[in-house]
Amino acid sequence: MRRHRKTKILATLGPASSAPDQMKKLFEAGVDVFRINMSHTNHDLLRELHGRVRALEEDEKRPIGILVDLQGPKIRLGKLPGGRITLKEGQRIRLIRADSSADPDVLPIPHGEIFTALKQKHVLLIDDGKVRLRTFASKPDGAEAFVEVGGVLTDKKGVNLPDTLLPLSAMTDKDKADLEAALALGVDWIALSFVQRPDDVAELRKLVRGRAGVLAKIEKPKAIESLDAILELSDAVMVARGDLGVELPLEAVPGCQKQITRAARRAGKPVVVATQMLESMINSPTPTRAEVSDVATAVFDGADAVMLSAETASGSYPVEAVNVMDRTAVAVENDPLYQSYLEAQRDTPLETTPDAIMQAVHDVTHTIHARCIVSWTGSGSTGLRAARERPEAPIIALTPSIDTARRLCIAWGLHCVLTEDAHDLDDVVERAAEIAYREGFAKAGERIVVTAGVPLGTPGATNLLRVAFVGGK
Ligand code: PGA
Ligand code: MN
Repeated sequence: MRRHRKTKILATLGPASSAPDQMKKLFEAGVDVFRINMSHTNHDLLRELHGRVRALEEDEKRPIGILVDLQGPKIRLGKLPGGRITLKEGQRIRLIRADSSADPDVLPIPHGEIFTALKQKHVLLIDDGKVRLRTFASKPDGAEAFVEVGGVLTDKKGVNLPDTLLPLSAMTDKDKADLEAALALGVDWIALSFVQRPDDVAELRKLVRGRAGVLAKIEKPKAIESLDAILELSDAVMVARGDLGVELPLEAVPGCQKQITRAARRAGKPVVVATQMLESMINSPTPTRAEVSDVATAVFDGADAVMLSAETASGSYPVEAVNVMDRTAVAVENDPLYQSYLEAQRDTPLETTPDAIMQAVHDVTHTIHARCIVSWTGSGSTGLRAARERPEAPIIALTPSIDTARRLCIAWGLHCVLTEDAHDLDDVVERAAEIAYREGFAKAGERIVVTAGVPLGTPGATNLLRVAFVGGK
């Protein structure tokens, strides 16, 4: 099984997508990485979902990535009476520190910190800003507010407080417990929400100790201020447009998306574009033109991956949504202008031997129209260096490590294949050719470009480029 696209697809698991047969359909439609959102998942369900993805992986004989998204210090509503309430403009409402409320005029918020920091006339934005409240009184045990923009609220919707300075650290006790549970299972990526400072990422890194990739979600204006330092400490980033578009004016978000994508591409770290990409498909079997155009923009910009949230977690058309993303990415990648857009934003190579080799790989592949690039990679770093060049030909990443294969599922253009380390230089080339043929990337007589590090098995030592013919065994 191979995909005919380089941009990867992340899909969030939820009630609409967690049954094993549904997961299988989603994978076959194009999902490369499944996201488990800890805001809506307990540890039993986490274990269950992890087991189902690993069983699917076994069944499909392809590595599949699992990303566990920590809630972070996100303020959420508690449980509402009957699971939903409708707020009307001008209505007065009480906010209290509680897990739940039985009174439709009282909103429960289970975070004590906000009431000490909340002042008069502060805005509360609920459910990605769909509902807006403004406080007119606040005490340490609760607050009173007017509804400025009304709407329907359901349990546990997010609350943003753009006016309020919240005394919160990057990881809550819940995040730490969720992290331990996820690492014990052996997930591939940990995403950290509401990163504000490089130190937030450093704190997570220390706890993860290399057992998973660390992805920083960029969803606060503060994080954009220190983007390069955050990128340096992260293995990947996400343009988390949901909260970004609440914390910043909406019209500032597209520019941020371009800025983050470009910075991540320069650093050679995967970047995921997320939230509301196909939002209307939660309730409709077809997307809007604007949504397809939004997915296309991320692909034209050379993002590593595009993500689905509610579309696959709780929508009525999860498989259709993945199909639309898949078809859109394939169409853009085959557009005659695509490669020129990627080239225009291609950076000079970093000053390392692997980066220099990969620049040469890009050029050699283009000049001789090689069918694919085959890169041997132990830790995955060489795979990412190859992806950074955004070459025209697909890249096969050969690795003896299942952890590496799974982690690289998030990265642009990489088709990961598990194989034991090469024994000698003949084996490096012969096995690369055999696998390129077997996986359907090259036919007999076609050329491929192979990279490896000599002495063999030395991590990060890529220093060899070979052009080889595929024999077709
Ligand atoms: P969330 O993150 O879905 O966990 O809020 C993504 C975003 O904010 O865009
Ligand atoms: Mn968010």
